[in-house]
Amino acid sequence: MAESLKAITEISLVRHDEIRLPFPPPLGLYIHMPWCVRKCPYCDFNSHEAANLLTTNGRVNLQNTDSLFAPYIDALICDLEGSLASVWGRNVQTVFIGGGTPSLCPPPLMAKLLDAVRSLLRLSADAEITMEANPGSFERERFEAFAATGVNRLSLGVQSFSDDCLRRIGRIHDGSQSHFALDAAIRIFPRVNIDLMYGQPGQDLASLGSDLAAALHYVDKGLSHLSLYQFTIEPNTVFAKHAPACMPDEDLLESMQWLIESNLAHAGFEQYEVSALAQNGQRCRHNLNYWQFGDYLGIGAGAHGKISDHQGIRRTVRRRNPELYMDSLIPESGKQHYTERWLAPSDLPFEFMLNVLRLKDGVPSHWWQERTGLPATVLAQMANQAVSKGLLDQNPTHWRASDLGWRFLNDLQASFLRDTP
Ligand code: SF4
Repeated sequence: MAESLKAITEISLVRHDEIRLPFPPPLGLYIHMPWCVRKCPYCDFNSHEAANLLTTNGRVNLQNTDSLFAPYIDALICDLEGSLASVWGRNVQTVFIGGGTPSLCPPPLMAKLLDAVRSLLRLSADAEITMEANPGSFERERFEAFAATGVNRLSLGVQSFSDDCLRRIGRIHDGSQSHFALDAAIRIFPRVNIDLMYGQPGQDLASLGSDLAAALHYVDKGLSHLSLYQFTIEPNTVFAKHAPACMPDEDLLESMQWLIESNLAHAGFEQYEVSALAQNGQRCRHNLNYWQFGDYLGIGAGAHGKISDHQGIRRTVRRRNPELYMDSLIPESGKQHYTERWLAPSDLPFEFMLNVLRLKDGVPSHWWQERTGLPATVLAQMANQAVSKGLLDQNPTHWRASDLGWRFLNDLQASFLRDTP
């Protein structure tokens, strides 16, 4: 670990004069909250089980989260203050409070954090402010209080409406809590997303169909965005050591994808990204900015950021462990709370295409020069090869994955990797 940090620090000293952006891209703010009631066995996010939130009868006790979050919110504000020089004068268009389970934070502390964001940054008047939440710790009064702090979009980690599915993947909530939280959320927040997972252990087509039907039941009431993720077994998770039984095979996964596309298109949802579907005008502005190779300031334990300026493009990452992160933000600690890496010109074809080709519509080709500061000649040869293989649609003004490229997106993205010796 010490060696890898040292390597990142050394790389951070290298800037690349060739990268000259005519103007910086749009900017978002990502805030990471690292705690959950219980760690899900499939989860590889930077999330940590908070002590004493789950009672012996399986209920969630949110009474004592002040002592957990108060020092963390102070650390976040300190982190934000220390980051201002890197984004000085720029408008912030979106805020995304993710985790972990940010909704465990007491609403008055969330208000303190968002007040600090508004007073320190130039937050657009119509900024999208999203918060993630878990149906297992949903209380109507708390969520009304979150809405009063300015959160105007809720992203609810439903994953399924089936008790059996939820139990098999180790979630803390059941199907009735998924329904209760979603029903309340769309009454409280102007915009609501739910996360659903397909390809879960033991899930069949009928079960997925029931989940989709349950979700679509809320469309008339205001549900306008869905994130559909494929369930996968990730390294360093409980499921990586103890694999769940009855994982779906490739044929079933393909049938599930077809079921999702046909059901949701019929209900007026457009798939605009690999995992994201929205009704007209309801795309997630914050995530769109990632995929359009925009900038984002990332604060909080383990948060990643990308910042462009007259010196080039940096990727930043905060200390991952919440205690070490908070400790490093005590002024007298003398410790660095983040590391950074300047992107080299040879990194940028893959970095740019990895993101923008996730968008079904692709992007205008002039964004390459605007958002990387490099001439189009840098990736012309790679793009031409992808076109000749039928993976990329290219016209004088636009790039997008072809139908074939959409099916084999990893191969298309990999064609923009720099040659390794
Ligand atoms: S609730 Fe979400 S972030 Fe927390 S452990 Fe489960 S999957 Fe991970």
